Amino acid sequence: MSATKTSKPGASAPQSHAGAEMAKAEVLIEALPFLREFWGSTIVVKYGGNAMADAALAESFAADIVLLHSVGIRVVVVHGGGPQIGHLLARLGIQSEFRDGLRVTDAETLDVARMVLVGKVNRDIVASINVHGPLAVGLSGEDAGLIQANLRDPELGFVGDIANINPAIVVSLLTQNLIPVISTIGADLSGQSYNINADTVAGALGGALDAVKVIYLTDIAGLLRDVNDPLSLIAKTTPTEIAALISDGVIAGGMIPKVEACLESIEAGVPAVHMLDGRIPHVLLLELFTRAGVGTMITSEGSS
Ligand code: ADP
Ligand code: MG
Repeated sequence: MSATKTSKPGASAPQSHAGAEMAKAEVLIEALPFLREFWGSTIVVKYGGNAMADAALAESFAADIVLLHSVGIRVVVVHGGGPQIGHLLARLGIQSEFRDGLRVTDAETLDVARMVLVGKVNRDIVASINVHGPLAVGLSGEDAGLIQANLRDPELGFVGDIANINPAIVVSLLTQNLIPVISTIGADLSGQSYNINADTVAGALGGALDAVKVIYLTDIAGLLRDVNDPLSLIAKTTPTEIAALISDGVIAGGMIPKVEACLESIEAGVPAVHMLDGRIPHVLLLELFTRAGVGTMITSEGSS
């Protein structure tokens, strides 16, 4: 394995070997301006329930997060888990009813959602990051008043809206050089908990932390003009264009809370929001440290 490193230069093979090594050096040099730009800044990454289903991808995601941390980025992970909640509900034989794409959440369903998000999905992400060192700390939005929630609509049960984000616990972990990993269960002032859409939390947290980017890792190439045509990817867009896409019916289902959260982050001053295909290994690194534009980038009207 390390033999190639120490072997003496010979005839033809080592030349191509040297070429390959040079290409690696070029990749690092290409990354230099990005490394300098992002050092010390905060990036919120939303890890989608669908993008996290594959074990190999989950491992490469964890390595990417550790790499971001290692080059001085204050990285915060917010995770979903809709499919994982669905699987346990099915195994327990608990039926769910959906209204406008949202699961009606009675007390029993809320218990399952909370157990799966905080007790399973969050633990798995923390464990996969901590294979690289003692870096990640799991939090529920109920911890230290991080996410104060409100009942959205009594018909939906314990589905919450964000009443307030108190990022103090997250800032304190970042200051200690740790990686916060957040489950999006919130609590109201009486201690009742609610399940909250993770996209919405990632967007609000990006604003509250003055993040330079909020990045959504999802299970599709990005924002598409035609959901069935990956070639219809919208590489760059603005809030005004997105409002038009929503009213034209181009954006549907799980994309709706995502784009709404994007708009909220931009309004709160986050310079850029990205939607990336979490099925592509190391897509975070491609976006952040190479000139290749991947997925969809949303910026405010004035910026280029
Ligand atoms: P996540 O786990 O990342 O939150 P969601 O299923 O909630 O994933 O949201 C992503 C889904 O949104 C896509 O898989 C796609 O089916 C749907 N979608 C609806 N409209 C669009 C659109 N215009 N472009 C891309 N995806 C869309
Ligand atoms: Mg979703």
